Amino acid sequence: MKIIVHGGGAQIGGTCIEVAAGKTRLILDCGWPLESDDNPTPPAVPGLFARGTRPDAVLLTHAHPDHTGFITEMPPDVPIHATVGTSKMMLAGSYYTPNGVKIPRDRFCEVAVPKPREASRSFPIGDLNVTAYPVDHSAYDSVAYLVEHGGKRVLYTGDLRFHGRKPGMSQRLSRELRGKLDLLITEGTNVGRASAGLRAEAEVEARALEVARAHPSLVMVAFSPQNIDRFVSFYRAAKRAGRTFVGDHYLLGVLHLLALRSLPKPGIADDLRFYFPKKRNRIAKIEPFAGERTITRDEILAEPHRYIMLTRPSILRDFAGVLPPKTQVLYGMWSGYRERPDWREAEAMIADAGGEIASCHASGHAHELPLFSFIGELEPAKILPVHTTSQVIFQQRFGAKCIAACDAQYTVEL
Ligand SMILES: [Zn+2]
Repeated sequence: MKIIVHGGGAQIGGTCIEVAAGKTRLILDCGWPLESDDNPTPPAVPGLFARGTRPDAVLLTHAHPDHTGFITEMPPDVPIHATVGTSKMMLAGSYYTPNGVKIPRDRFCEVAVPKPREASRSFPIGDLNVTAYPVDHSAYDSVAYLVEHGGKRVLYTGDLRFHGRKPGMSQRLSRELRGKLDLLITEGTNVGRASAGLRAEAEVEARALEVARAHPSLVMVAFSPQNIDRFVSFYRAAKRAGRTFVGDHYLLGVLHLLALRSLPKPGIADDLRFYFPKKRNRIAKIEPFAGERTITRDEILAEPHRYIMLTRPSILRDFAGVLPPKTQVLYGMWSGYRERPDWREAEAMIADAGGEIASCHASGHAHELPLFSFIGELEPAKILPVHTTSQVIFQQRFGAKCIAACDAQYTVEL
């Protein structure tokens, strides 16, 4: 087996990894670099973005653009494998975010994910055998991929963590693959980074509940509607504090497309209403699903203490000059976005209303200690860290077992 890191080896984002054996080539993830300009250049993958024969398939671990962004630039005859959840989240992203990409229906191959008590299911692609394992990450329905050929086994984790709302999700990996992996390709986003924010998703709910109970005014929460764990944390906090959760058109789209029984149903659930910002992408076939459960700005302003409301700069603009005094904003995203001009403007507006913005966030990626103990439990023969700038720390911890992909096109032969 041959593994080539085409992108995202020694950086966070831009992940693109090839696994090849026999006559088959698979590409695992195909994302934009995170800190890129408007026109990032795709990695030189033969048959995708450079001359050469077509790979047999692209497999996506989850919907985040740093793992999926370049799929629109691929030749149109390469099949794209992903979970249904990933495909739906990408569809929602394509409706409501400026750069969202979706998987064309005729190229989508569904990757089945086993329920907790079901056996893992593998499927062949050419000469390789693939098995998807559910993992906990801030993107809904994320998976890791096991790729096997001729008795060799490679596991690529994608992005993962152990402190979301389903922290036990990765137990299947250690149960089934302990001591059996020739190579573990793992993310290491938070390795070597001082841990900022809250340690676990459960703490996000607890902090939001505390604020919702004590605060006499409007509580707003800033997070990506794609982050279902985060929605559940804030929605539960609202419920427990006796407030109504107010979502927006984007959250409505996500909940409608996912249609999960474990989530509140738009238009039906009493404690979930929707505010449609003036400036928005209107998807006519989705908005009616809010039914009678829409809410106007004036209704929110009349009794602000009754709501926890999803926000972002474009929503806040509708409240310019009328934001309820002492509005409290809980910020549940990557802190880097707050440096951007639209958030700076939003922060000034919140301050003008005598309000406050406070971080209420837990990382979508594993903390160093739990990640290292997970790797220790798996006992892989070799470790290839990607999606990290801290390979050195992996090498210090795992010694000669650890291979560091420092250059583009870094290749490992098994
Ligand atoms: Zn991710």
